[in-house]
Amino acid sequence: MSLEQPSILKLLKDYPVQTWLKAADGCEYCKAPYEFRVTWIDETGCFGDVETRIQHREGCMSIAEYDENFCEDSHDVAGWEFHERPITIQGHQLIPLKSKANIGPCLHCWKLIVGVPLILFIDQGKGGEIDLCFPCAEKLGVLDQLKGGIR
Ligand SMILES: [Zn+2]
Ligand SMILES: [Zn+2]
Repeated sequence: MSLEQPSILKLLKDYPVQTWLKAADGCEYCKAPYEFRVTWIDETGCFGDVETRIQHREGCMSIAEYDENFCEDSHDVAGWEFHERPITIQGHQLIPLKSKANIGPCLHCWKLIVGVPLILFIDQGKGGEIDLCFPCAEKLGVLDQLKGGIR
């Protein structure tokens, strides 16, 4: 496990523009990964536009909904800002997000999450929120913590 201190904080401007990258998540049925590409970043460096796409695997249950089209492309707004106060979850220090557009990052692996992240609201949201992809939530023991209560 590598994230002992919140040394690397990524903003949208830290992602390469016009380059397709693997997202943190994928299709819930066929497990094909989502991909994203940052297409525009505003002058703050925090918010911008992304394109997302996914190439479903043959036989994927979700394909029927899309006219046998294996590819889905869409556009969305991405971006986030950090809260000042770090929090510690299962021994890992993480900086909560203060605000977030439709698409934000996993605060552990820093891939963007195209679908639904696991969100932990800190202090009823006053302390921001921790967004994680499910594999990272599992790795960090957050899922166990949610299932079994705090140990
Ligand atoms: Zn699929
Ligand atoms: Zn992650």
